Amino acid sequence: MFKKGANSPFEQHVVRVSPRSYSSPVTKQCKKCGAIKPLIDYYEARGTRDGHRGACKACESAARAEWYQRNREHVIEKVRSWQTDNRDRYLAWQREYKRGRPREEREGHLRRTFGLSLDDYDAILAAQGGGCAICGERPISGQSLHIDHLGDVVRGILCVRCNNALGLLKEDPELIGVACDYVDSGGFASAGVYTERGLAIGRARGLVKGSG
Ligand SMILES: [Zn+2]
Ligand SMILES: [Zn+2]
Repeated sequence: MFKKGANSPFEQHVVRVSPRSYSSPVTKQCKKCGAIKPLIDYYEARGTRDGHRGACKACESAARAEWYQRNREHVIEKVRSWQTDNRDRYLAWQREYKRGRPREEREGHLRRTFGLSLDDYDAILAAQGGGCAICGERPISGQSLHIDHLGDVVRGILCVRCNNALGLLKEDPELIGVACDYVDSGGFASAGVYTERGLAIGRARGLVKGSG
């Protein structure tokens, strides 16, 4: 029988198991939003008790985005002043950055494909903090990220993954919102619904009794 007072007995037992001997499936409560989510929804962190950070990925990326919005100007300012103070290093970095592809070739590609000049591209990218507008991924040396445009208007610069993600969700804010809520809530995982494999492992380790 399960211990008294545990509303989700299996979960109550599993959560206490050391991650070294039992790494999945385990849930934990986000210290920020309080939602109970599978460990996969937390970034890994060495040196922590369960090998993961305390706040969930959704909370952390929301905090990062919020921080960026608040500090955007400051970040751009810092980048600019670093560039001025470290002119030689910055120029060396720029040479390295452009080595993969000659400037003219990139310029031509951007113009042909997106009707955008390389200077405009660089300015937009700098205003975005140097990376994808959603995840922050930086372009590989000498390559360009995707120009996200609505007809003749540039919306921003995205990495291929984030651009695909928007497309797959039909660029529908409502659908994207639903996807956010779904991921954020942890769905059935929050309610402690386990896979057959998860239950089998739990039983084999004596964490779950009975055949239920
Ligand atoms: Zn959270
Ligand atoms: Zn991205």
